[in-house]
Amino acid sequence: MEKYTGKSVLKGIAIGRIYWYRKQDYQVEKVETADSEAEKKRFADALETAKEQLGGLYEETLARVGEDHAMIFDIHKMLLEDGDYLDTVNGVLEEGFNAEYAVETAENRFAELFASMEDEYMRARAADIRDVSKRVIRILAGIPEDGILADGPVIVAADDLTPSETVKMDKNKILAFVTAKGSSNSHTAILARSMNLPALVSTGIVNWEALEGKVGVVDGFSGEFFVEPEPELLNEMIHRKNRWVADLKALEQLRGKDNVTGDGRRIDVFANIGKVEDADGALEADAGGIGLFRSEFLYLGRDSFPTEEEQFISYKTVLEKMGDKKVVIRTLDIGADKKVDYFHLDEEENPALGYRAIRICLDRPEIFITQLRAIFRASAYGRAAIMFPMVVSVDEVRRIKEIVRQVKQELSAGGHPMGEVELGIMVETPAAALISGELAKEVDFFSIGTNDLTQYTLAVDRQNQKLEAICDTHHPAILELIRMTVENAHKEGIWAGICGELAADTDLTETFLAMGVDELSVSASSVLKVRKAVREL
Ligand code: PEP
Ligand code: MG
Repeated sequence: MEKYTGKSVLKGIAIGRIYWYRKQDYQVEKVETADSEAEKKRFADALETAKEQLGGLYEETLARVGEDHAMIFDIHKMLLEDGDYLDTVNGVLEEGFNAEYAVETAENRFAELFASMEDEYMRARAADIRDVSKRVIRILAGIPEDGILADGPVIVAADDLTPSETVKMDKNKILAFVTAKGSSNSHTAILARSMNLPALVSTGIVNWEALEGKVGVVDGFSGEFFVEPEPELLNEMIHRKNRWVADLKALEQLRGKDNVTGDGRRIDVFANIGKVEDADGALEADAGGIGLFRSEFLYLGRDSFPTEEEQFISYKTVLEKMGDKKVVIRTLDIGADKKVDYFHLDEEENPALGYRAIRICLDRPEIFITQLRAIFRASAYGRAAIMFPMVVSVDEVRRIKEIVRQVKQELSAGGHPMGEVELGIMVETPAAALISGELAKEVDFFSIGTNDLTQYTLAVDRQNQKLEAICDTHHPAILELIRMTVENAHKEGIWAGICGELAADTDLTETFLAMGVDELSVSASSVLKVRKAVREL
Protein backbone atom coordinates (compact mmCIF):
# COMPACT_ATOMS: atom_id res chain seq x y z
CA MET A 1 0.00 0.00 0.00
CA GLU A 2 1.12 3.55 -0.69
CA LYS A 3 -0.25 6.65 0.97
CA TYR A 4 -0.13 10.25 -0.22
CA THR A 5 -1.55 13.42 1.26
CA GLY A 6 -2.99 16.40 -0.55
CA LYS A 7 -5.42 19.27 -0.13
CA SER A 8 -9.03 18.28 -0.25
CA VAL A 9 -11.38 20.18 -2.52
CA LEU A 10 -14.60 18.36 -1.67
CA LYS A 11 -15.42 16.15 1.29
CA GLY A 12 -16.31 12.71 0.05
CA ILE A 13 -14.87 9.27 -0.55
CA ALA A 14 -14.18 7.55 -3.84
CA ILE A 15 -12.86 4.05 -4.47
CA GLY A 16 -11.85 2.81 -7.91
CA ARG A 17 -9.18 2.30 -10.54
CA ILE A 18 -6.64 5.04 -11.14
CA TYR A 19 -6.55 6.50 -14.62
CA TRP A 20 -3.61 8.64 -15.61
CA TYR A 21 -4.82 11.56 -17.71
CA ARG A 22 -2.36 12.49 -20.42
CA LYS A 23 -2.19 15.97 -21.84
CA GLN A 24 -3.81 16.38 -25.24
CA ASP A 25 -1.04 18.03 -27.14
CA TYR A 26 -1.43 15.74 -30.13
CA GLN A 27 0.27 17.13 -33.24
CA VAL A 28 -0.55 15.73 -36.63
CA GLU A 29 2.51 14.52 -38.50
CA LYS A 30 2.90 14.33 -42.25
CA VAL A 31 3.95 10.77 -43.03
CA GLU A 32 4.42 9.12 -46.42
CA THR A 33 2.80 5.70 -46.45
CA ALA A 34 3.56 2.77 -48.70
CA ASP A 35 -0.02 1.50 -48.65
CA SER A 36 -2.47 4.23 -49.57
CA GLU A 37 -5.32 1.71 -49.81
CA ALA A 38 -4.84 0.86 -46.13
CA GLU A 39 -4.91 4.57 -45.24
CA LYS A 40 -8.09 5.01 -47.24
CA LYS A 41 -9.65 2.18 -45.27
CA ARG A 42 -8.52 3.75 -41.98
CA PHE A 43 -10.08 7.04 -43.04
CA ALA A 44 -13.33 5.38 -44.15
CA ASP A 45 -13.60 3.57 -40.81
CA ALA A 46 -12.87 6.72 -38.83
CA LEU A 47 -15.45 8.60 -40.88
CA GLU A 48 -18.08 6.00 -40.04
CA THR A 49 -17.21 6.12 -36.34
CA ALA A 50 -17.38 9.93 -36.36
CA LYS A 51 -20.81 9.83 -37.98
CA GLU A 52 -22.01 7.28 -35.45
CA GLN A 53 -20.74 9.47 -32.61
CA LEU A 54 -22.46 12.52 -34.08
CA GLY A 55 -25.70 10.57 -34.50
CA GLY A 56 -25.47 9.56 -30.83
CA LEU A 57 -24.75 13.12 -29.73
CA TYR A 58 -27.70 14.36 -31.79
CA GLU A 59 -30.11 11.93 -30.12
CA GLU A 60 -28.72 12.55 -26.64
CA THR A 61 -28.85 16.35 -27.01
CA LEU A 62 -32.30 16.22 -28.59
CA ALA A 63 -33.62 14.30 -25.60
CA ARG A 64 -31.88 16.55 -23.07
CA VAL A 65 -32.22 20.07 -24.39
CA GLY A 66 -34.12 19.91 -27.66
CA GLU A 67 -33.78 20.31 -31.39
CA ASP A 68 -32.17 23.79 -31.37
CA HIS A 69 -29.17 22.48 -29.52
CA ALA A 70 -29.00 19.10 -31.27
CA MET A 71 -28.98 20.52 -34.79
CA ILE A 72 -25.29 21.36 -34.67
CA PHE A 73 -24.42 17.65 -34.69
CA ASP A 74 -26.51 17.16 -37.80
CA ILE A 75 -24.62 20.01 -39.44
CA HIS A 76 -21.32 18.37 -38.46
CA LYS A 77 -22.46 15.13 -40.02
CA MET A 78 -23.39 16.91 -43.23
CA LEU A 79 -19.96 18.54 -43.36
CA LEU A 80 -18.40 15.07 -43.24
CA GLU A 81 -20.54 14.05 -46.21
CA ASP A 82 -19.60 17.05 -48.30
CA GLY A 83 -18.20 15.96 -51.67
CA ASP A 84 -15.53 18.66 -51.93
CA TYR A 85 -14.27 17.98 -48.42
CA LEU A 86 -14.05 14.23 -49.11
CA ASP A 87 -12.36 14.85 -52.47
CA THR A 88 -9.68 16.92 -50.73
CA VAL A 89 -9.02 14.20 -48.15
CA ASN A 90 -8.93 11.50 -50.83
CA GLY A 91 -6.62 13.61 -52.99
CA VAL A 92 -4.02 13.76 -50.22
CA LEU A 93 -4.46 10.04 -49.53
CA GLU A 94 -3.89 9.35 -53.24
CA GLU A 95 -0.63 11.26 -53.00
CA GLY A 96 0.44 8.64 -50.45
CA PHE A 97 0.15 10.53 -47.17
CA ASN A 98 -1.33 9.40 -43.88
CA ALA A 99 -5.01 9.86 -43.07
CA GLU A 100 -4.47 12.26 -40.15
CA TYR A 101 -2.51 14.61 -42.40
CA ALA A 102 -5.11 14.29 -45.17
CA VAL A 103 -7.92 15.28 -42.80
CA GLU A 104 -5.92 18.17 -41.38
CA THR A 105 -5.20 19.43 -44.90
CA ALA A 106 -8.92 19.42 -45.71
CA GLU A 107 -9.66 21.04 -42.36
CA ASN A 108 -7.28 23.93 -43.01
CA ARG A 109 -8.40 24.43 -46.59
CA PHE A 110 -12.12 24.55 -45.82
CA ALA A 111 -11.86 26.41 -42.52
CA GLU A 112 -9.91 29.17 -44.28
CA LEU A 113 -12.41 29.21 -47.14
CA PHE A 114 -15.38 29.56 -44.79
CA ALA A 115 -13.62 32.13 -42.64
CA SER A 116 -13.10 34.37 -45.69
CA MET A 117 -16.79 34.42 -46.67
CA GLU A 118 -19.01 37.50 -46.46
CA ASP A 119 -21.99 35.76 -44.92
CA GLU A 120 -21.85 35.59 -41.11
CA TYR A 121 -23.55 32.19 -40.99
CA MET A 122 -21.03 30.69 -43.41
CA ARG A 123 -18.10 32.29 -41.56
CA ALA A 124 -19.25 30.63 -38.36
CA ARG A 125 -19.03 27.23 -40.11
CA ALA A 126 -15.21 27.53 -40.11
CA ALA A 127 -15.27 26.53 -36.44
CA ASP A 128 -17.49 23.56 -37.23
CA ILE A 129 -15.14 22.32 -39.93
CA ARG A 130 -12.28 22.47 -37.43
CA ASP A 131 -14.33 20.81 -34.75
CA VAL A 132 -15.54 17.92 -36.86
CA SER A 133 -12.15 17.37 -38.51
CA LYS A 134 -10.51 17.21 -35.09
CA ARG A 135 -13.05 14.55 -34.16
CA VAL A 136 -11.97 12.40 -37.12
CA ILE A 137 -8.28 12.99 -36.35
CA ARG A 138 -8.83 11.99 -32.71
CA ILE A 139 -10.54 8.79 -33.81
CA LEU A 140 -7.68 8.00 -36.21
CA ALA A 141 -5.14 8.60 -33.45
CA GLY A 142 -7.15 6.66 -30.85
CA ILE A 143 -7.59 9.68 -28.55
CA PRO A 144 -10.89 9.92 -26.68
CA GLU A 145 -12.73 13.24 -26.88
CA ASP A 146 -12.30 14.19 -23.26
CA GLY A 147 -8.94 12.49 -22.78
CA ILE A 148 -10.37 9.68 -20.65
CA LEU A 149 -9.97 6.32 -22.31
CA ALA A 150 -11.57 4.04 -19.74
CA ASP A 151 -14.44 1.57 -19.67
CA GLY A 152 -15.95 2.34 -16.30
CA PRO A 153 -15.76 5.40 -14.05
CA VAL A 154 -12.24 6.02 -12.76
CA ILE A 155 -10.18 8.15 -10.44
CA VAL A 156 -8.67 10.71 -12.82
CA ALA A 157 -5.07 11.39 -11.87
CA ALA A 158 -2.92 14.09 -13.42
CA ASP A 159 0.07 16.25 -12.80
CA ASP A 160 -2.22 19.25 -13.06
CA LEU A 161 -5.44 20.05 -14.89
CA THR A 162 -6.40 23.30 -16.55
CA PRO A 163 -9.98 24.58 -16.49
CA SER A 164 -10.14 23.96 -20.28
CA GLU A 165 -9.29 20.29 -19.80
CA THR A 166 -11.62 19.77 -16.87
CA VAL A 167 -14.59 21.44 -18.50
CA LYS A 168 -14.49 18.94 -21.40
CA MET A 169 -14.60 15.87 -19.16
CA ASP A 170 -17.63 13.65 -18.93
CA LYS A 171 -18.68 13.51 -15.29
CA ASN A 172 -20.09 10.01 -15.71
CA LYS A 173 -16.61 8.65 -16.34
CA ILE A 174 -15.11 10.13 -13.18
CA LEU A 175 -15.17 9.04 -9.54
CA ALA A 176 -12.68 11.61 -8.25
CA PHE A 177 -9.75 13.80 -9.23
CA VAL A 178 -6.25 13.57 -7.79
CA THR A 179 -3.58 15.98 -8.98
CA ALA A 180 0.07 16.43 -8.08
CA LYS A 181 -0.11 20.21 -8.27
CA GLY A 182 -2.86 22.81 -8.05
CA SER A 183 -4.47 24.83 -5.29
CA SER A 184 -7.86 24.33 -3.72
CA ASN A 185 -9.02 27.78 -4.87
CA SER A 186 -8.17 27.29 -8.53
CA HIS A 187 -10.92 27.07 -11.12
CA THR A 188 -10.10 23.42 -11.70
CA ALA A 189 -10.88 22.78 -8.04
CA ILE A 190 -14.07 24.82 -8.37
CA LEU A 191 -15.09 22.72 -11.38
CA ALA A 192 -14.50 19.49 -9.42
CA ARG A 193 -16.69 20.88 -6.67
CA SER A 194 -19.38 21.79 -9.17
CA MET A 195 -19.32 18.19 -10.43
CA ASN A 196 -19.76 17.06 -6.83
CA LEU A 197 -16.71 14.83 -7.02
CA PRO A 198 -14.17 14.22 -4.26
CA ALA A 199 -10.88 15.75 -5.30
CA LEU A 200 -7.40 16.15 -3.91
CA VAL A 201 -4.88 18.63 -5.23
CA SER A 202 -1.25 19.25 -4.39
CA THR A 203 -0.41 15.61 -3.60
CA GLY A 204 3.09 15.93 -5.05
CA ILE A 205 2.80 12.52 -6.75
CA VAL A 206 5.30 12.02 -9.58
CA ASN A 207 5.03 8.33 -10.47
CA TRP A 208 1.59 8.28 -12.12
CA GLU A 209 2.69 5.73 -14.67
CA ALA A 210 3.37 3.20 -11.90
CA LEU A 211 0.04 3.91 -10.20
CA GLU A 212 -2.13 3.64 -13.27
CA GLY A 213 -4.66 0.81 -13.21
CA LYS A 214 -4.25 0.18 -9.49
CA VAL A 215 -7.06 0.54 -6.97
CA GLY A 216 -7.08 3.93 -5.28
CA VAL A 217 -9.05 5.37 -2.39
CA VAL A 218 -9.60 9.13 -2.20
CA ASP A 219 -10.49 10.39 1.24
CA GLY A 220 -11.72 13.94 0.78
CA PHE A 221 -12.25 14.30 4.53
CA SER A 222 -8.64 13.73 5.54
CA GLY A 223 -6.97 14.65 2.24
CA GLU A 224 -5.43 11.18 2.01
CA PHE A 225 -4.99 9.07 -1.09
CA PHE A 226 -4.31 5.34 -0.68
CA VAL A 227 -3.08 3.13 -3.48
CA GLU A 228 -3.75 -0.61 -3.21
CA PRO A 229 -4.96 -0.36 0.40
CA GLU A 230 -4.77 -3.35 2.74
CA PRO A 231 -8.09 -5.27 2.89
CA GLU A 232 -8.78 -3.96 6.38
CA LEU A 233 -8.37 -0.33 5.37
CA LEU A 234 -10.34 -0.92 2.20
CA ASN A 235 -13.23 -2.33 4.23
CA GLU A 236 -13.14 0.60 6.59
CA MET A 237 -13.20 3.04 3.68
CA ILE A 238 -16.12 1.22 2.05
CA HIS A 239 -17.94 1.51 5.37
CA ARG A 240 -17.14 5.23 5.66
CA LYS A 241 -18.16 5.82 2.08
CA ASN A 242 -21.55 4.23 2.76
CA ARG A 243 -21.96 6.46 5.80
CA TRP A 244 -21.12 9.54 3.75
CA VAL A 245 -23.67 8.56 1.10
CA ALA A 246 -26.25 8.02 3.87
CA ASP A 247 -25.48 11.49 5.30
CA LEU A 248 -26.04 13.01 1.88
CA LYS A 249 -29.35 11.16 1.64
CA ALA A 250 -30.35 12.54 5.03
CA LEU A 251 -29.80 16.08 3.72
CA GLU A 252 -32.35 15.33 1.02
CA GLN A 253 -35.15 15.82 3.53
CA LEU A 254 -34.32 19.53 3.42
CA ARG A 255 -35.41 19.74 -0.19
CA GLY A 256 -38.39 22.05 -0.51
CA LYS A 257 -37.72 23.62 2.90
CA ASP A 258 -37.06 27.32 3.45
CA ASN A 259 -33.63 28.79 4.28
CA VAL A 260 -34.77 30.35 7.49
CA THR A 261 -33.17 30.62 10.92
CA GLY A 262 -34.90 29.79 14.21
CA ASP A 263 -35.67 33.49 14.72
CA GLY A 264 -37.13 33.93 11.28
CA ARG A 265 -34.23 35.42 9.31
CA ARG A 266 -34.39 34.27 5.70
CA ILE A 267 -31.58 34.09 3.16
CA ASP A 268 -31.46 32.96 -0.47
CA VAL A 269 -29.28 29.94 -1.19
CA PHE A 270 -28.44 29.79 -4.87
CA ALA A 271 -26.07 27.61 -6.92
CA ASN A 272 -22.97 28.39 -8.97
CA ILE A 273 -22.74 26.77 -12.38
CA GLY A 274 -20.21 26.65 -15.19
CA LYS A 275 -21.96 24.62 -17.85
CA VAL A 276 -25.50 24.50 -19.18
CA GLU A 277 -25.93 20.94 -17.86
CA ASP A 278 -25.03 22.09 -14.34
CA ALA A 279 -28.46 23.71 -14.15
CA ASP A 280 -29.85 20.19 -13.70
CA GLY A 281 -27.64 19.73 -10.63
CA ALA A 282 -28.80 23.10 -9.28
CA LEU A 283 -32.43 22.05 -9.62
CA GLU A 284 -31.74 18.64 -8.11
CA ALA A 285 -30.09 20.35 -5.15
CA ASP A 286 -33.19 22.55 -4.80
CA ALA A 287 -31.24 25.79 -5.22
CA GLY A 288 -33.37 28.95 -5.16
CA GLY A 289 -31.71 30.14 -8.38
CA ILE A 290 -28.35 30.48 -10.06
CA GLY A 291 -26.22 33.07 -8.28
CA LEU A 292 -23.23 32.74 -10.60
CA PHE A 293 -23.17 31.31 -14.10
CA ARG A 294 -19.49 31.44 -15.02
CA SER A 295 -20.17 32.10 -18.69
CA GLU A 296 -16.49 31.97 -19.64
CA PHE A 297 -16.68 28.18 -19.45
CA LEU A 298 -18.68 28.37 -22.69
CA TYR A 299 -15.51 29.78 -24.27
CA LEU A 300 -13.09 27.17 -22.88
CA GLY A 301 -12.07 23.87 -24.46
CA ARG A 302 -12.79 24.96 -28.03
CA ASP A 303 -10.95 26.49 -30.98
CA SER A 304 -13.01 29.57 -31.77
CA PHE A 305 -15.40 32.09 -30.25
CA PRO A 306 -18.89 30.81 -29.51
CA THR A 307 -21.25 32.68 -31.82
CA GLU A 308 -24.12 34.87 -30.61
CA GLU A 309 -26.51 32.12 -31.64
CA GLU A 310 -24.64 29.40 -29.74
CA GLN A 311 -24.51 31.55 -26.63
CA PHE A 312 -28.15 32.54 -26.97
CA ILE A 313 -29.14 28.87 -26.99
CA SER A 314 -26.98 28.16 -23.92
CA TYR A 315 -28.42 31.03 -21.85
CA LYS A 316 -31.96 30.35 -23.04
CA THR A 317 -31.63 26.69 -22.10
CA VAL A 318 -30.49 27.54 -18.57
CA LEU A 319 -33.19 30.22 -18.15
CA GLU A 320 -35.91 27.88 -19.36
CA LYS A 321 -34.72 25.07 -17.12
CA MET A 322 -34.73 27.38 -14.09
CA GLY A 323 -38.26 28.63 -14.84
CA ASP A 324 -39.16 31.52 -12.53
CA LYS A 325 -35.92 31.23 -10.55
CA LYS A 326 -33.34 33.95 -11.00
CA VAL A 327 -30.23 33.24 -13.10
CA VAL A 328 -27.28 35.60 -12.60
CA ILE A 329 -25.07 35.37 -15.66
CA ARG A 330 -21.58 36.69 -15.19
CA THR A 331 -20.07 38.09 -18.35
CA LEU A 332 -16.84 36.67 -19.67
CA ASP A 333 -14.09 36.38 -17.05
CA ILE A 334 -11.31 35.07 -19.26
CA GLY A 335 -7.63 35.55 -18.49
CA ALA A 336 -5.38 34.52 -15.56
CA ASP A 337 -5.80 30.72 -15.20
CA LYS A 338 -8.62 30.56 -17.77
CA LYS A 339 -6.65 30.53 -21.00
CA VAL A 340 -8.12 30.39 -24.47
CA ASP A 341 -5.75 30.30 -27.44
CA TYR A 342 -8.07 32.00 -29.90
CA PHE A 343 -8.15 35.16 -27.76
CA HIS A 344 -4.42 35.52 -28.59
CA LEU A 345 -3.61 37.01 -25.20
CA ASP A 346 -0.01 37.95 -24.51
CA GLU A 347 2.00 36.16 -21.85
CA GLU A 348 2.00 38.34 -18.74
CA GLU A 349 4.22 38.71 -15.70
CA ASN A 350 1.23 38.87 -13.35
CA PRO A 351 -1.79 37.49 -15.18
CA ALA A 352 -4.12 37.68 -12.15
CA LEU A 353 -3.39 41.41 -12.08
CA GLY A 354 -3.45 41.66 -15.80
CA TYR A 355 -5.55 41.76 -18.89
CA ARG A 356 -8.63 39.79 -17.87
CA ALA A 357 -12.39 39.83 -17.40
CA ILE A 358 -14.12 43.19 -17.87
CA ARG A 359 -10.82 44.75 -18.92
CA ILE A 360 -10.80 42.58 -22.05
CA CYS A 361 -14.51 43.18 -22.63
CA LEU A 362 -14.17 46.96 -22.50
CA ASP A 363 -11.06 46.85 -24.67
CA ARG A 364 -12.55 44.49 -27.27
CA PRO A 365 -16.22 45.53 -27.31
CA GLU A 366 -17.09 43.29 -30.26
CA ILE A 367 -16.61 40.25 -27.99
CA PHE A 368 -18.60 41.90 -25.19
CA ILE A 369 -21.45 43.03 -27.44
CA THR A 370 -21.89 39.54 -28.92
CA GLN A 371 -22.26 38.12 -25.43
CA LEU A 372 -24.59 40.87 -24.22
CA ARG A 373 -26.82 40.48 -27.27
CA ALA A 374 -27.06 36.74 -26.60
CA ILE A 375 -27.94 37.28 -22.92
CA PHE A 376 -30.52 40.00 -23.56
CA ARG A 377 -32.16 37.93 -26.31
CA ALA A 378 -32.29 34.95 -23.94
CA SER A 379 -33.73 37.16 -21.17
CA ALA A 380 -37.15 36.82 -22.77
CA TYR A 381 -37.19 33.19 -21.62
CA GLY A 382 -36.71 33.51 -17.86
CA ARG A 383 -35.45 35.71 -15.03
CA ALA A 384 -32.01 36.81 -16.13
CA ALA A 385 -29.65 39.09 -14.25
CA ILE A 386 -26.20 40.09 -15.49
CA MET A 387 -23.11 40.84 -13.46
CA PHE A 388 -19.70 42.09 -14.44
CA PRO A 389 -16.44 40.72 -13.05
CA MET A 390 -13.28 42.46 -11.77
CA VAL A 391 -14.71 45.95 -11.53
CA VAL A 392 -12.44 48.52 -9.86
CA SER A 393 -14.04 51.88 -10.67
CA VAL A 394 -17.27 53.79 -11.16
CA ASP A 395 -16.06 54.82 -14.60
CA GLU A 396 -15.91 51.17 -15.72
CA VAL A 397 -19.49 50.63 -14.58
CA ARG A 398 -20.67 53.69 -16.49
CA ARG A 399 -18.91 52.51 -19.64
CA ILE A 400 -20.48 49.07 -19.23
CA LYS A 401 -23.92 50.61 -18.80
CA GLU A 402 -23.50 52.69 -21.94
CA ILE A 403 -22.66 49.57 -23.97
CA VAL A 404 -25.63 47.77 -22.41
CA ARG A 405 -27.88 50.68 -23.35
CA GLN A 406 -26.74 50.50 -26.97
CA VAL A 407 -27.18 46.74 -27.14
CA LYS A 408 -30.71 46.95 -25.76
CA GLN A 409 -31.60 49.75 -28.15
CA GLU A 410 -30.39 47.75 -31.14
CA LEU A 411 -32.25 44.66 -30.03
CA SER A 412 -35.44 46.62 -29.48
CA ALA A 413 -35.10 48.18 -32.92
CA GLY A 414 -34.67 44.68 -34.34
CA GLY A 415 -37.92 43.59 -32.67
CA HIS A 416 -36.32 41.19 -30.19
CA PRO A 417 -38.35 40.58 -27.04
CA MET A 418 -36.41 41.03 -23.78
CA GLY A 419 -37.15 40.51 -20.10
CA GLU A 420 -36.43 42.84 -17.18
CA VAL A 421 -32.74 42.30 -16.42
CA GLU A 422 -31.06 43.36 -13.18
CA LEU A 423 -27.51 44.65 -13.64
CA GLY A 424 -24.96 44.00 -10.93
CA ILE A 425 -21.25 43.80 -10.36
CA MET A 426 -18.96 41.38 -8.65
CA VAL A 427 -17.20 42.90 -5.69
CA GLU A 428 -13.97 40.97 -5.85
CA THR A 429 -11.31 43.65 -5.67
CA PRO A 430 -10.54 45.62 -2.50
CA ALA A 431 -11.05 48.76 -4.62
CA ALA A 432 -14.66 47.81 -5.39
CA ALA A 433 -15.36 46.99 -1.74
CA LEU A 434 -13.87 50.28 -0.57
CA ILE A 435 -15.89 52.37 -3.03
CA SER A 436 -18.98 50.17 -2.75
CA GLY A 437 -20.93 53.18 -1.46
CA GLU A 438 -20.42 54.89 -4.86
CA LEU A 439 -20.84 51.74 -6.91
CA ALA A 440 -24.12 50.89 -5.18
CA LYS A 441 -25.65 54.02 -6.73
CA GLU A 442 -24.95 52.62 -10.20
CA VAL A 443 -26.20 49.02 -10.06
CA ASP A 444 -29.04 46.76 -8.90
CA PHE A 445 -26.97 44.32 -6.84
CA PHE A 446 -23.56 43.22 -5.62
CA SER A 447 -22.19 39.70 -5.61
CA ILE A 448 -19.05 39.35 -3.55
CA GLY A 449 -16.38 37.16 -5.13
CA THR A 450 -14.40 36.07 -2.12
CA ASN A 451 -11.96 33.95 -4.12
CA ASP A 452 -10.44 36.94 -5.85
CA LEU A 453 -11.18 39.30 -2.99
CA THR A 454 -9.04 37.05 -0.79
CA GLN A 455 -6.17 36.86 -3.25
CA TYR A 456 -6.08 40.62 -3.81
CA THR A 457 -6.58 41.59 -0.16
CA LEU A 458 -4.00 39.19 1.26
CA ALA A 459 -1.70 39.40 -1.77
CA VAL A 460 -1.88 35.61 -2.01
CA ASP A 461 -1.94 34.09 -5.50
CA ARG A 462 -4.91 31.71 -5.47
CA GLN A 463 -3.08 29.38 -7.89
CA ASN A 464 -0.03 28.98 -5.71
CA GLN A 465 -0.20 25.78 -3.69
CA LYS A 466 2.69 26.88 -1.46
CA LEU A 467 0.68 29.81 -0.12
CA GLU A 468 -2.41 27.90 0.99
CA ALA A 469 -1.23 27.91 4.58
CA ILE A 470 -1.28 31.71 4.75
CA CYS A 471 -4.43 32.04 2.69
CA ASP A 472 -6.64 32.80 5.68
CA THR A 473 -10.11 33.22 4.22
CA HIS A 474 -11.43 34.27 7.65
CA HIS A 475 -8.92 37.12 7.85
CA PRO A 476 -10.54 40.16 9.55
CA ALA A 477 -9.65 42.34 6.57
CA ILE A 478 -11.77 40.19 4.26
CA LEU A 479 -14.67 39.98 6.67
CA GLU A 480 -14.58 43.75 7.11
CA LEU A 481 -14.65 44.33 3.34
CA ILE A 482 -17.66 42.02 3.07
CA ARG A 483 -19.44 43.75 5.94
CA MET A 484 -18.78 47.16 4.46
CA THR A 485 -19.99 46.10 1.00
CA VAL A 486 -23.26 44.71 2.36
CA GLU A 487 -23.86 47.79 4.47
CA ASN A 488 -23.25 50.11 1.51
CA ALA A 489 -25.53 48.01 -0.70
CA HIS A 490 -28.36 48.26 1.80
CA LYS A 491 -27.89 52.00 2.22
CA GLU A 492 -28.73 52.33 -1.48
CA GLY A 493 -31.52 49.79 -1.29
CA ILE A 494 -29.86 47.07 -3.37
CA TRP A 495 -29.17 43.44 -2.45
CA ALA A 496 -25.77 41.87 -1.79
CA GLY A 497 -24.80 38.23 -2.01
CA ILE A 498 -21.64 36.18 -1.86
CA CYS A 499 -20.73 33.85 -4.70
CA GLY A 500 -17.12 32.98 -3.86
CA GLU A 501 -16.28 29.65 -2.24
CA LEU A 502 -16.47 31.24 1.21
CA ALA A 503 -20.26 31.36 0.86
CA ALA A 504 -20.30 27.59 1.50
CA ASP A 505 -18.18 27.83 4.65
CA THR A 506 -20.75 27.01 7.31
CA ASP A 507 -18.46 28.27 10.07
CA LEU A 508 -19.30 31.73 8.72
CA THR A 509 -23.00 31.31 7.98
CA GLU A 510 -23.98 33.01 11.23
CA THR A 511 -21.53 35.86 10.59
CA PHE A 512 -22.93 36.40 7.10
CA LEU A 513 -26.48 36.45 8.40
CA ALA A 514 -25.48 38.93 11.09
CA MET A 515 -23.94 41.15 8.40
CA GLY A 516 -27.24 41.07 6.52
CA VAL A 517 -26.00 39.16 3.47
CA ASP A 518 -29.06 38.54 1.28
CA GLU A 519 -27.89 35.60 -0.79
CA LEU A 520 -25.27 32.86 -0.67
CA SER A 521 -24.41 31.19 -3.95
CA VAL A 522 -22.54 27.92 -3.58
CA SER A 523 -21.74 24.81 -5.59
CA ALA A 524 -24.82 22.63 -6.05
CA SER A 525 -23.26 20.04 -3.75
CA SER A 526 -23.29 22.56 -0.88
CA VAL A 527 -26.81 23.98 -1.21
CA LEU A 528 -28.48 21.62 1.27
CA LYS A 529 -25.52 21.74 3.65
CA VAL A 530 -25.82 25.55 3.82
CA ARG A 531 -29.61 25.30 4.20
CA LYS A 532 -29.07 22.97 7.16
CA ALA A 533 -26.63 25.43 8.74
CA VAL A 534 -29.08 28.31 8.31
CA ARG A 535 -31.99 26.35 9.77
CA GLU A 536 -29.94 25.29 12.78
CA LEU A 537 -29.17 28.88 13.79
C1 PEP B 1 -14.57 34.91 -7.00
O1 PEP B 1 -13.55 35.48 -7.37
O2 PEP B 1 -14.87 34.73 -5.80
C2 PEP B 1 -15.52 34.37 -7.98
C3 PEP B 1 -16.70 33.89 -7.62
O3 PEP B 1 -15.12 34.33 -9.29
P1 PEP B 1 -14.05 33.26 -9.83
O4 PEP B 1 -13.80 32.25 -8.76
O5 PEP B 1 -14.63 32.67 -11.05
O6 PEP B 1 -12.87 34.12 -10.12
MG1 MG C 1 -13.31 36.06 -9.42
